[in-house]
Amino acid sequence: MAKIIGIINQKGGVGKTTTAVNLSAFLAKHSRRVLIVDTDSQGNATSGLSMERRHFDPDIYDVMMGNAPVEEAIVDTDMKRLFLLPASMNLAGAEIEMVGMENRETILKRILSQVRDKYDYIIIDCPPALGLMTLNVLTAADSVIIPIQAEFYALEGLSQLVKTIHAVTKNLNPDLDILGILLTMYDGRTNLSVQVRDEVESYFGDTVFKTVIPRSVKLSEAPGFGQPITLYAPKSKGGVAYKKLSREVLKRVEK
Ligand code: ADP
Ligand code: MG
Repeated sequence: MAKIIGIINQKGGVGKTTTAVNLSAFLAKHSRRVLIVDTDSQGNATSGLSMERRHFDPDIYDVMMGNAPVEEAIVDTDMKRLFLLPASMNLAGAEIEMVGMENRETILKRILSQVRDKYDYIIIDCPPALGLMTLNVLTAADSVIIPIQAEFYALEGLSQLVKTIHAVTKNLNPDLDILGILLTMYDGRTNLSVQVRDEVESYFGDTVFKTVIPRSVKLSEAPGFGQPITLYAPKSKGGVAYKKLSREVLKRVEK
């Protein structure tokens, strides 16, 4: 049975997609079967894993609207054991359409339950919002990873996010927990990065991953080639960092 992990933060540009793709890729390298689920209409995880930016038909939108079986939408990637449930701009209108649907918070949960036994991990890349789609992710997930950019205003919005997680725990998904807080785009030479790390650690304690993700040009280049860092530049400092993170995740989940 797959462990389902959501990569969540309502802020954009904090490294959610980069983390979802590259953590998934290293978990696959560690011989786990991994499904990455793209729930963002930007489709960045989807294009970051597909060289020719193919048009995927059906995609997660069709599945969530009940117009295609989930198995039909899942595709393989250039990496062994790494699979993708793709998204596209179609998803942009989905939240509005979902409002009228019955049990609208549990749509994703029901879909993933149909394929859960085929994978060891299901990693969900979230949109930058605390809307109905993110609520679906929080309802479907066993745990979440929260990437935080080690920059000014990093902590802004964090208490709102934690409140939302607690509300979901009370009402929709009592077993949900925070697997870890991940500092991204970290630069240990700057006071600011160190300050943010101290602040996050004083608030979240051991929940913060020991691994931090440094700024790495290779990490930002890889999606342009439709490749995870495991294929594009595994030995780069970004590659090494995500490899380390994957070990930490394995340890926390499979302890
Ligand atoms: P989100 O999904 O939270 O919006 P992304 O993962 O798309 O964030 O990252 C935002 C931008 O920053 C992207 O262009 C990405 O390539 C880049 N980026 C993410 N993490 C790093 C990093 N550690 N070093 C350098 N660039 C990064
Ligand atoms: Mg993203």
